[in-house]
Amino acid sequence: MTQTAPMAQTAPAAPERFAPPTRFAVPGRIGVSEQTASVWRTATLTGIRHETPRATTFRFAVPGWPGHVPGQHLLLRLTAEDGYVAQRHYSIASAPDDSGHIELTLDHVEGGEVSGWFHTVARPGDRVEVRGPLSGFFAWPGDRPALLVGAGSGVVPLMSMVRHHRARDMRLPLRLLVSARSPEELIYAREFGAETTRVFTRSAPEGVSVGRMTAAHVAPLLAKQPPSGWEAYVCGSNSFAEHASRLLVAAGQPVERIRIERFG
Ligand SMILES: Cc1cc2nc3c(=O)[nH]c(=O)nc-3n(C[C@H](O)[C@H](O)[C@H](O)COP(=O)(O)OP(=O)(O)OC[C@H]3O[C@@H](n4cnc5c(N)ncnc54)[C@H](O)[C@@H]3O)c2cc1C
Repeated sequence: MTQTAPMAQTAPAAPERFAPPTRFAVPGRIGVSEQTASVWRTATLTGIRHETPRATTFRFAVPGWPGHVPGQHLLLRLTAEDGYVAQRHYSIASAPDDSGHIELTLDHVEGGEVSGWFHTVARPGDRVEVRGPLSGFFAWPGDRPALLVGAGSGVVPLMSMVRHHRARDMRLPLRLLVSARSPEELIYAREFGAETTRVFTRSAPEGVSVGRMTAAHVAPLLAKQPPSGWEAYVCGSNSFAEHASRLLVAAGQPVERIRIERFG
């Protein structure tokens, strides 16, 4: 983990608005999962890791975090000193473990309030609030073969699945098809292995073609599917999710076995 260089003088005004919150709800010990997910918890930033020029991973200690299933997300809340609040959803990038920590990977959205604060102001020791985990629909408990298709920061919840698969040394088939503008913008590039097919839309290493994800990328994965078939998980912008799910259906993936998470 490395710390970001101080950027206080160049930080835009909106992100600077969010000083670490001074008051928090104190979570009680609640056994029922739906209630647990409705509790706001204090998350203390403990590490910052740059993934690409635009995407950074933020590691948090979250006392009382109830655990999550790969693919789930949380709601994150920043509160400014004047009481102004901004809330955004973020997928959980880390695999479930008992470290008491979770990781989020944020793209730096131009002019974005929350991602801008994280990328230009946040420092280890800062505190935010989180509520979750949320969404059982996009969760992958590791109980069926998974075909993961993502673009840009849409790879974040899919990486939690890949990490979980590796951490448990699972034999269950899992494949990842990921699209990025260039190799430099491919989040988690160093972590990918034989399970991953990469697609580059603007520039690619020599010998690799440049262009959108096509039937030619999807068809081989559907042709070699396990006997019980794939459960497909698609994540990215609205347009990418639409495009990728059409490709999957055209290649024979049953529509009821495609789960979609849209970041747009
Ligand atoms: C379920 C879910 C999970 C998500 N997980 C992640 C994640 O793991 N990592 C991640 O980086 N983001 C994720 N997002 C997106 C995230 O919630 C925010 O929308 C994003 O960080 C922008 O917030 P902001 O406050 O920085 O920008 P805002 O202040 O909300 O927006 C600033 C400007 O950017 C535009 N904009 C907003 N979002 C985007 C975007 N994603 N791409 C391009 N332009 C945008 C807005 O229209 C506006 O013009 C997720 C969204 C959902 C719904």
